[in-house]
Amino acid sequence: MAEKKISVTDVALTLTDQPFVDGCTIKGLASVIVDHQYQVAGINLVQGPAGMNVILPFDERGNEYFRPINPELRLAIDKAVQDKYREATSKETTYFQEGVFTSVWDGGTEIESTCKFNLQTGEITDIRRKGDDDVPNFEDLCSLDEEYVESANGGTRYKVCPNCHNYIMKDTGTMFACPDCKHTEKKE
Ligand SMILES: [Zn+2]
Repeated sequence: MAEKKISVTDVALTLTDQPFVDGCTIKGLASVIVDHQYQVAGINLVQGPAGMNVILPFDERGNEYFRPINPELRLAIDKAVQDKYREATSKETTYFQEGVFTSVWDGGTEIESTCKFNLQTGEITDIRRKGDDDVPNFEDLCSLDEEYVESANGGTRYKVCPNCHNYIMKDTGTMFACPDCKHTEKKE
């Protein structure tokens, strides 16, 4: 009887830039579909001194990485995620992901819009307010407190430049800096 070959049939990848342990950085969050039916979510693509590493989610005990029984499947997941990352970053200047743009006004009113954003360049485009109901009276909204963007499926919040409103602020460690208008803010 011929053995059935297990394969990764779909990869979803969200680019990110989050600090991880030991000076490593999480460059991507991925989930894969195996054989058109099983999903493995919560995969981290981590960049460290030794290169890129695909880290599978923790198991239920929370102290050990979940490892599929089949080593062939482990390799297939590694390859699929790394290939997807290369594909995404090779066209990085045009790689926009779907996001949610949130404006927080004085008094705590939050207005959400859909948008697209590019984590490499910081650019935010296609900002469109969600629906038309519940649109507050702008005269009641005294001042804009904060604006942030996050991926459409949740995750990290990125601070939006309070000066030009069109770019994600780069975190330099001690400051936030807009890559476009050069506005800076000290980190709290
Ligand atoms: Zn700016």
